[in-house]
Amino acid sequence: MTGALTAEQAQALKEFRAFADDRVAPHADTWHHEQRTPPEVIRLLADEGLLGLPVAREYGGGGCDAVTLGLLAGELGRACSSLRSLLTVHTMVAHAIARWGSRSQKEHWLPRLAAGRIVGALAVSEPGAGSDASGVTTRLERDGDDWIVDGHKKWTTYGESADLFLVVGRSAEGPTALLVERDTPGLRTELIEGMIGIRASMTANVYLEGCRVPGGNVLARPGLGVSHVVGAALDLGRYTVGWGSVGILDACLAASTDYASGREQFGSLIKDHQLVRRMISNMYTDARAARLLCLEAGRLRDERDPGALAATSTAKYFAATAAGRAALDAVQIHGANGCGPDYPVQRYLGDSRVMEVIEGSAQLHQVGLAEYAFQERALRSVR
Ligand SMILES: Cc1cc2nc3c(=O)[nH]c(=O)nc-3n(C[C@H](O)[C@H](O)[C@H](O)COP(=O)(O)OP(=O)(O)OC[C@H]3O[C@@H](n4cnc5c(N)ncnc54)[C@H](O)[C@@H]3O)c2cc1C
Repeated sequence: MTGALTAEQAQALKEFRAFADDRVAPHADTWHHEQRTPPEVIRLLADEGLLGLPVAREYGGGGCDAVTLGLLAGELGRACSSLRSLLTVHTMVAHAIARWGSRSQKEHWLPRLAAGRIVGALAVSEPGAGSDASGVTTRLERDGDDWIVDGHKKWTTYGESADLFLVVGRSAEGPTALLVERDTPGLRTELIEGMIGIRASMTANVYLEGCRVPGGNVLARPGLGVSHVVGAALDLGRYTVGWGSVGILDACLAASTDYASGREQFGSLIKDHQLVRRMISNMYTDARAARLLCLEAGRLRDERDPGALAATSTAKYFAATAAGRAALDAVQIHGANGCGPDYPVQRYLGDSRVMEVIEGSAQLHQVGLAEYAFQERALRSVR
Protein backbone atom coordinates (compact mmCIF):
# COMPACT_ATOMS: atom_id res chain seq x y z
CA MET A 1 0.00 0.00 0.00
CA THR A 2 2.58 2.57 -1.07
CA GLY A 3 0.62 4.12 -3.96
CA ALA A 4 -0.63 7.00 -1.83
CA LEU A 5 2.90 8.15 -0.96
CA THR A 6 4.88 10.85 -2.75
CA ALA A 7 7.97 9.68 -4.67
CA GLU A 8 10.23 10.93 -1.84
CA GLN A 9 8.18 9.14 0.82
CA ALA A 10 8.19 5.91 -1.21
CA GLN A 11 11.99 6.15 -1.60
CA ALA A 12 12.41 6.83 2.13
CA LEU A 13 10.22 3.80 2.92
CA LYS A 14 12.42 1.62 0.72
CA GLU A 15 15.52 2.76 2.58
CA PHE A 16 13.93 2.36 6.04
CA ARG A 17 12.76 -1.12 5.08
CA ALA A 18 16.23 -2.18 3.94
CA PHE A 19 17.80 -0.75 7.11
CA ALA A 20 15.27 -2.53 9.35
CA ASP A 21 15.67 -5.84 7.49
CA ASP A 22 19.47 -5.79 7.29
CA ARG A 23 20.62 -4.02 10.44
CA VAL A 24 17.86 -4.47 13.01
CA ALA A 25 15.57 -7.49 12.54
CA PRO A 26 18.31 -10.17 12.62
CA HIS A 27 19.40 -9.03 16.10
CA ALA A 28 16.10 -8.05 17.73
CA ASP A 29 15.51 -11.38 19.48
CA THR A 30 19.01 -11.31 20.99
CA TRP A 31 18.52 -7.78 22.34
CA HIS A 32 15.10 -8.82 23.65
CA HIS A 33 16.53 -11.80 25.56
CA GLU A 34 19.54 -9.83 26.83
CA GLN A 35 17.26 -6.91 27.81
CA ARG A 36 19.79 -4.45 26.40
CA THR A 37 20.30 -2.30 23.32
CA PRO A 38 24.03 -2.30 22.53
CA PRO A 39 25.37 1.29 22.52
CA GLU A 40 26.75 0.81 18.99
CA VAL A 41 23.19 0.24 17.74
CA ILE A 42 22.06 3.58 19.17
CA ARG A 43 25.18 5.09 17.54
CA LEU A 44 24.22 3.49 14.24
CA LEU A 45 20.73 5.03 14.32
CA ALA A 46 22.30 8.40 15.12
CA ASP A 47 24.94 8.11 12.38
CA GLU A 48 22.23 7.23 9.84
CA GLY A 49 20.51 10.50 10.81
CA LEU A 50 17.41 8.59 11.91
CA LEU A 51 17.17 10.02 15.44
CA GLY A 52 17.12 13.59 14.10
CA LEU A 53 14.92 12.97 11.09
CA PRO A 54 11.94 15.13 12.19
CA VAL A 55 14.06 17.93 13.75
CA ALA A 56 14.03 21.14 11.66
CA ARG A 57 16.89 21.51 9.17
CA GLU A 58 17.98 24.82 10.73
CA TYR A 59 18.92 22.80 13.84
CA GLY A 60 20.75 20.11 11.89
CA GLY A 61 17.85 17.64 11.60
CA GLY A 62 16.34 16.00 8.55
CA GLY A 63 13.23 18.22 8.57
CA CYS A 64 11.10 15.29 7.42
CA ASP A 65 7.32 15.39 7.20
CA ALA A 66 5.04 13.50 9.60
CA VAL A 67 4.23 10.76 7.08
CA THR A 68 7.95 10.01 6.58
CA LEU A 69 8.51 9.90 10.35
CA GLY A 70 5.58 7.49 10.61
CA LEU A 71 7.02 5.24 7.91
CA LEU A 72 10.30 5.07 9.84
CA ALA A 73 8.48 4.24 13.10
CA GLY A 74 6.51 1.54 11.25
CA GLU A 75 9.61 -0.11 9.83
CA LEU A 76 11.53 0.05 13.11
CA GLY A 77 8.42 -1.27 14.88
CA ARG A 78 8.21 -4.19 12.47
CA ALA A 79 11.82 -5.14 13.21
CA CYS A 80 12.23 -4.20 16.88
CA SER A 81 9.74 -2.36 19.10
CA SER A 82 12.52 -1.36 21.50
CA LEU A 83 14.36 0.64 18.85
CA ARG A 84 11.04 2.13 17.75
CA SER A 85 10.52 3.22 21.36
CA LEU A 86 13.95 4.91 21.31
CA LEU A 87 12.81 6.88 18.27
CA THR A 88 9.54 7.67 20.08
CA VAL A 89 10.94 9.07 23.32
CA HIS A 90 13.90 10.83 21.70
CA THR A 91 11.67 12.62 19.20
CA MET A 92 9.14 13.44 21.95
CA VAL A 93 11.84 15.31 23.87
CA ALA A 94 13.08 17.10 20.73
CA HIS A 95 9.50 17.99 19.78
CA ALA A 96 8.73 19.39 23.24
CA ILE A 97 11.81 21.61 23.01
CA ALA A 98 10.99 22.67 19.44
CA ARG A 99 7.41 23.50 20.44
CA TRP A 100 7.91 25.11 23.85
CA GLY A 101 11.61 25.94 24.14
CA SER A 102 13.02 29.47 23.89
CA ARG A 103 15.28 30.36 20.97
CA SER A 104 18.39 29.77 23.07
CA GLN A 105 17.09 26.43 24.41
CA LYS A 106 16.44 25.28 20.85
CA GLU A 107 19.88 26.42 19.69
CA HIS A 108 21.52 24.67 22.64
CA TRP A 109 19.71 21.30 22.66
CA LEU A 110 18.24 20.59 19.24
CA PRO A 111 21.50 20.24 17.22
CA ARG A 112 22.82 17.70 19.76
CA LEU A 113 19.57 15.74 19.80
CA ALA A 114 19.32 15.89 16.00
CA ALA A 115 22.83 14.48 15.59
CA GLY A 116 22.18 11.87 18.28
CA ARG A 117 25.20 13.15 20.23
CA ILE A 118 22.83 13.02 23.19
CA VAL A 119 19.79 10.76 23.68
CA GLY A 120 16.63 12.17 25.26
CA ALA A 121 14.22 10.42 27.63
CA LEU A 122 10.85 11.39 29.02
CA ALA A 123 10.58 11.15 32.80
CA VAL A 124 6.95 11.88 33.66
CA SER A 125 5.51 8.72 35.28
CA GLU A 126 6.06 8.01 38.97
CA PRO A 127 5.06 5.13 41.23
CA GLY A 128 1.84 7.02 42.05
CA ALA A 129 1.28 8.96 38.81
CA GLY A 130 0.55 7.18 35.52
CA SER A 131 -2.44 7.96 33.32
CA ASP A 132 -3.03 11.09 35.40
CA ALA A 133 0.26 12.90 34.78
CA SER A 134 -0.97 15.93 36.72
CA GLY A 135 -0.60 13.83 39.87
CA VAL A 136 3.23 13.97 39.80
CA THR A 137 4.79 14.65 43.20
CA THR A 138 8.43 15.26 42.24
CA ARG A 139 9.27 18.50 44.08
CA LEU A 140 10.65 21.51 42.22
CA GLU A 141 11.77 24.44 44.35
CA ARG A 142 13.44 27.66 43.28
CA ASP A 143 16.81 28.48 44.80
CA GLY A 144 18.00 31.80 43.38
CA ASP A 145 18.23 31.34 39.61
CA ASP A 146 18.29 27.54 39.96
CA TRP A 147 15.73 24.87 40.74
CA ILE A 148 16.20 21.99 43.17
CA VAL A 149 14.58 18.73 42.05
CA ASP A 150 13.64 15.84 44.36
CA GLY A 151 11.62 12.83 43.26
CA HIS A 152 11.39 9.33 41.83
CA LYS A 153 10.51 8.74 38.19
CA LYS A 154 9.56 5.27 37.04
CA TRP A 155 9.32 3.42 33.71
CA THR A 156 11.60 5.87 31.89
CA THR A 157 12.26 4.29 28.47
CA TYR A 158 16.00 4.23 27.74
CA GLY A 159 16.41 5.86 31.15
CA GLU A 160 19.41 3.63 31.80
CA SER A 161 21.36 5.11 28.89
CA ALA A 162 19.82 8.52 28.11
CA ASP A 163 21.82 11.72 28.46
CA LEU A 164 19.00 14.22 28.87
CA PHE A 165 15.77 13.78 30.87
CA LEU A 166 12.64 15.81 30.32
CA VAL A 167 11.35 15.77 33.90
CA VAL A 168 7.93 16.98 35.01
CA GLY A 169 7.48 17.90 38.65
CA ARG A 170 5.35 20.07 40.89
CA SER A 171 6.40 23.64 41.69
CA ALA A 172 4.54 26.38 43.57
CA GLU A 173 3.08 27.39 40.16
CA GLY A 174 1.84 23.85 39.33
CA PRO A 175 3.19 21.09 37.07
CA THR A 176 6.47 22.26 35.55
CA ALA A 177 8.76 20.71 32.93
CA LEU A 178 12.52 21.01 32.94
CA LEU A 179 15.55 19.38 31.34
CA VAL A 180 17.98 17.53 33.60
CA GLU A 181 21.33 16.28 32.32
CA ARG A 182 22.55 12.83 33.30
CA ASP A 183 25.72 14.09 34.99
CA THR A 184 23.76 16.34 37.37
CA PRO A 185 24.87 15.47 40.93
CA GLY A 186 22.03 13.65 42.72
CA LEU A 187 20.64 11.92 39.59
CA ARG A 188 20.84 8.13 39.61
CA THR A 189 19.22 5.52 37.36
CA GLU A 190 18.42 1.86 37.97
CA LEU A 191 17.50 -0.60 35.20
CA ILE A 192 14.11 -2.35 35.53
CA GLU A 193 14.55 -5.93 34.31
CA GLY A 194 11.87 -8.51 33.56
CA MET A 195 9.52 -6.32 31.48
CA ILE A 196 6.86 -8.15 29.44
CA GLY A 197 7.65 -6.17 26.29
CA ILE A 198 10.01 -3.69 24.64
CA ARG A 199 12.52 -5.51 26.82
CA ALA A 200 15.62 -4.08 25.16
CA SER A 201 14.57 -0.50 25.86
CA MET A 202 16.49 -0.23 29.11
CA THR A 203 13.51 1.13 31.04
CA ALA A 204 14.65 2.59 34.34
CA ASN A 205 13.85 4.14 37.66
CA VAL A 206 15.26 7.66 37.81
CA TYR A 207 16.04 9.01 41.26
CA LEU A 208 16.55 12.75 41.66
CA GLU A 209 17.94 13.78 45.04
CA GLY A 210 18.62 17.48 45.52
CA CYS A 211 19.49 17.93 41.83
CA ARG A 212 20.41 21.55 41.11
CA VAL A 213 19.16 22.57 37.66
CA PRO A 214 19.71 25.99 36.02
CA GLY A 215 16.53 28.10 35.60
CA GLY A 216 17.34 28.22 31.88
CA ASN A 217 16.39 24.53 31.64
CA VAL A 218 12.70 25.12 32.42
CA LEU A 219 10.54 24.54 29.33
CA ALA A 220 7.54 26.86 28.86
CA ARG A 221 6.13 28.79 31.84
CA PRO A 222 6.08 27.01 35.22
CA GLY A 223 2.59 25.55 35.61
CA LEU A 224 2.30 24.53 31.95
CA GLY A 225 4.40 21.35 32.27
CA VAL A 226 1.58 18.87 31.74
CA SER A 227 -1.02 20.81 29.77
CA HIS A 228 1.44 22.19 27.20
CA VAL A 229 4.83 20.44 27.30
CA VAL A 230 3.72 16.86 28.04
CA GLY A 231 0.62 17.43 25.90
CA ALA A 232 2.76 18.24 22.84
CA ALA A 233 5.18 15.38 23.51
CA LEU A 234 2.37 12.86 24.01
CA ASP A 235 0.64 13.85 20.81
CA LEU A 236 3.79 12.99 18.83
CA GLY A 237 4.42 9.88 20.95
CA ARG A 238 0.93 8.60 20.17
CA TYR A 239 1.58 9.07 16.50
CA THR A 240 4.84 7.06 16.42
CA VAL A 241 3.45 4.39 18.78
CA GLY A 242 0.47 4.02 16.41
CA TRP A 243 2.89 3.46 13.54
CA GLY A 244 5.00 1.14 15.68
CA SER A 245 1.85 -0.92 16.20
CA VAL A 246 1.38 -1.07 12.41
CA GLY A 247 4.89 -2.53 12.34
CA ILE A 248 3.91 -5.21 14.87
CA LEU A 249 0.83 -6.05 12.76
CA ASP A 250 3.00 -6.43 9.65
CA ALA A 251 5.48 -8.60 11.54
CA CYS A 252 2.70 -10.83 12.90
CA LEU A 253 1.22 -11.23 9.44
CA ALA A 254 4.58 -12.11 7.85
CA ALA A 255 5.46 -14.61 10.59
CA SER A 256 1.99 -16.21 10.51
CA THR A 257 1.75 -16.58 6.72
CA ASP A 258 5.28 -18.06 6.64
CA TYR A 259 4.55 -20.52 9.41
CA ALA A 260 1.13 -21.56 8.13
CA SER A 261 2.65 -22.16 4.69
CA GLY A 262 5.16 -24.67 6.06
CA ARG A 263 3.41 -26.48 8.89
CA GLU A 264 1.32 -29.57 8.12
CA GLN A 265 -1.33 -31.11 10.36
CA PHE A 266 -4.08 -33.60 9.45
CA GLY A 267 -2.49 -34.16 6.06
CA SER A 268 -2.58 -30.57 4.87
CA LEU A 269 -0.81 -27.28 5.44
CA ILE A 270 -2.41 -25.43 8.33
CA LYS A 271 -2.95 -22.45 6.00
CA ASP A 272 -5.68 -24.54 4.39
CA HIS A 273 -7.63 -24.99 7.64
CA GLN A 274 -10.46 -22.48 7.59
CA LEU A 275 -10.11 -21.28 11.17
CA VAL A 276 -6.43 -20.52 10.62
CA ARG A 277 -7.39 -18.59 7.48
CA ARG A 278 -9.89 -16.58 9.51
CA MET A 279 -7.14 -15.44 11.90
CA ILE A 280 -4.95 -14.46 8.97
CA SER A 281 -7.79 -12.63 7.21
CA ASN A 282 -8.51 -10.62 10.36
CA MET A 283 -4.83 -9.78 10.76
CA TYR A 284 -4.59 -8.73 7.12
CA THR A 285 -7.64 -6.47 7.41
CA ASP A 286 -6.46 -4.93 10.67
CA ALA A 287 -2.96 -4.28 9.27
CA ARG A 288 -4.37 -2.43 6.25
CA ALA A 289 -6.90 -0.46 8.29
CA ALA A 290 -4.31 0.55 10.90
CA ARG A 291 -1.88 1.69 8.19
CA LEU A 292 -4.57 3.81 6.52
CA LEU A 293 -5.57 5.44 9.81
CA CYS A 294 -1.92 6.23 10.59
CA LEU A 295 -1.40 7.62 7.07
CA GLU A 296 -4.47 9.81 7.48
CA ALA A 297 -3.17 11.08 10.83
CA GLY A 298 0.20 11.82 9.19
CA ARG A 299 -1.35 13.76 6.32
CA LEU A 300 -3.52 15.82 8.66
CA ARG A 301 -0.46 16.55 10.82
CA ASP A 302 1.46 17.69 7.73
CA GLU A 303 -1.44 19.92 6.71
CA ARG A 304 -1.66 21.33 10.27
CA ASP A 305 -5.31 20.35 10.23
CA PRO A 306 -7.10 20.80 13.58
CA GLY A 307 -8.51 17.28 13.11
CA ALA A 308 -5.00 15.82 13.47
CA LEU A 309 -5.33 15.36 17.25
CA ALA A 310 -8.45 13.21 16.96
CA ALA A 311 -7.03 11.35 13.96
CA THR A 312 -3.82 10.59 15.87
CA SER A 313 -5.70 9.31 18.90
CA THR A 314 -7.98 7.17 16.68
CA ALA A 315 -5.01 5.74 14.79
CA LYS A 316 -3.06 4.93 17.96
CA TYR A 317 -6.07 3.33 19.65
CA PHE A 318 -6.99 1.22 16.64
CA ALA A 319 -3.45 0.21 15.71
CA ALA A 320 -2.43 -0.68 19.29
CA THR A 321 -5.52 -2.79 19.98
CA ALA A 322 -5.29 -4.42 16.53
CA ALA A 323 -1.62 -5.27 17.19
CA GLY A 324 -2.76 -6.90 20.44
CA ARG A 325 -5.27 -9.07 18.57
CA ALA A 326 -2.79 -9.93 15.83
CA ALA A 327 -0.05 -10.94 18.28
CA LEU A 328 -2.44 -13.24 20.16
CA ASP A 329 -3.47 -14.90 16.89
CA ALA A 330 0.12 -15.12 15.67
CA VAL A 331 1.07 -17.04 18.81
CA GLN A 332 -1.99 -19.27 18.33
CA ILE A 333 -1.09 -20.05 14.73
CA HIS A 334 2.42 -21.04 15.87
CA GLY A 335 1.01 -23.41 18.51
CA ALA A 336 3.68 -24.57 20.98
CA ASN A 337 6.34 -22.90 18.85
CA GLY A 338 4.56 -19.60 19.54
CA CYS A 339 4.92 -20.22 23.27
CA GLY A 340 8.61 -21.12 23.03
CA PRO A 341 11.74 -19.01 22.57
CA ASP A 342 12.57 -19.87 18.93
CA TYR A 343 10.05 -17.71 17.07
CA PRO A 344 9.68 -13.92 17.28
CA VAL A 345 5.89 -14.01 17.84
CA GLN A 346 6.48 -14.39 21.59
CA ARG A 347 8.28 -11.01 21.45
CA TYR A 348 5.46 -9.46 19.42
CA LEU A 349 2.94 -10.57 22.04
CA GLY A 350 4.82 -8.87 24.89
CA ASP A 351 5.49 -5.76 22.81
CA SER A 352 1.83 -5.48 21.78
CA ARG A 353 0.71 -5.49 25.44
CA VAL A 354 2.88 -2.43 26.05
CA MET A 355 1.35 -0.60 23.06
CA GLU A 356 -2.04 -0.67 24.83
CA VAL A 357 -0.62 0.83 28.03
CA ILE A 358 1.73 3.61 26.90
CA GLU A 359 0.93 7.00 25.35
CA GLY A 360 -2.60 6.81 26.73
CA SER A 361 -3.95 3.40 27.66
CA ALA A 362 -6.65 1.82 25.49
CA GLN A 363 -9.22 2.85 28.13
CA LEU A 364 -8.13 6.51 28.13
CA HIS A 365 -8.49 6.60 24.33
CA GLN A 366 -11.93 4.99 24.64
CA VAL A 367 -12.96 7.73 27.04
CA GLY A 368 -11.38 10.52 24.96
CA LEU A 369 -12.51 9.42 21.49
CA ALA A 370 -16.17 9.57 22.49
CA GLU A 371 -15.52 13.21 23.39
CA TYR A 372 -14.37 13.89 19.82
CA ALA A 373 -17.56 12.23 18.54
CA PHE A 374 -19.70 14.54 20.71
CA GLN A 375 -17.69 17.60 19.63
CA GLU A 376 -18.33 16.68 15.99
CA ARG A 377 -22.04 16.30 16.77
CA ALA A 378 -22.06 19.79 18.34
CA LEU A 379 -20.37 21.22 15.23
CA ARG A 380 -22.99 19.57 13.00
CA SER A 381 -25.82 21.15 14.95
CA VAL A 382 -24.23 24.65 14.66
CA ARG A 383 -24.12 24.37 10.84
C1 LIG B 1 7.31 -0.44 28.75
C2 LIG B 1 6.85 0.88 29.29
C3 LIG B 1 7.55 2.04 28.95
C4 LIG B 1 7.18 3.26 29.50
N1 LIG B 1 7.92 4.39 29.20
C5 LIG B 1 7.64 5.55 29.82
C6 LIG B 1 8.48 6.71 29.61
O1 LIG B 1 9.43 6.70 28.82
N2 LIG B 1 8.20 7.83 30.32
C7 LIG B 1 7.16 7.90 31.19
O2 LIG B 1 6.97 8.95 31.80
N3 LIG B 1 6.34 6.83 31.39
C8 LIG B 1 6.56 5.67 30.74
N4 LIG B 1 5.76 4.57 30.93
C9 LIG B 1 4.64 4.66 31.86
C10 LIG B 1 3.34 4.83 31.10
O3 LIG B 1 3.24 6.14 30.61
C11 LIG B 1 2.21 4.49 32.09
O4 LIG B 1 2.28 3.10 32.29
C12 LIG B 1 0.85 4.88 31.57
O5 LIG B 1 0.71 6.28 31.60
C13 LIG B 1 -0.27 4.25 32.42
O6 LIG B 1 -0.06 4.52 33.76
P1 LIG B 1 -0.03 3.35 34.85
O7 LIG B 1 0.81 2.27 34.33
O8 LIG B 1 0.36 3.97 36.14
O9 LIG B 1 -1.49 2.82 34.91
P2 LIG B 1 -2.73 3.50 35.67
O10 LIG B 1 -2.86 4.93 35.25
O11 LIG B 1 -2.63 3.23 37.12
O12 LIG B 1 -3.92 2.67 35.04
C14 LIG B 1 -4.19 1.32 35.44
C15 LIG B 1 -5.42 0.85 34.70
O13 LIG B 1 -6.52 1.71 34.99
C16 LIG B 1 -7.06 2.24 33.78
N5 LIG B 1 -7.49 3.63 33.97
C17 LIG B 1 -6.81 4.64 34.55
N6 LIG B 1 -7.53 5.78 34.49
C18 LIG B 1 -8.67 5.49 33.85
C19 LIG B 1 -9.82 6.24 33.45
N7 LIG B 1 -9.93 7.56 33.68
N8 LIG B 1 -10.82 5.58 32.81
C20 LIG B 1 -10.73 4.24 32.54
N9 LIG B 1 -9.67 3.49 32.88
C21 LIG B 1 -8.66 4.09 33.52
C22 LIG B 1 -5.92 2.18 32.77
O14 LIG B 1 -6.41 2.12 31.44
C23 LIG B 1 -5.23 0.88 33.17
O15 LIG B 1 -5.90 -0.21 32.59
C24 LIG B 1 6.07 3.34 30.37
C25 LIG B 1 5.35 2.17 30.67
C26 LIG B 1 5.73 0.97 30.13
C27 LIG B 1 4.94 -0.26 30.48
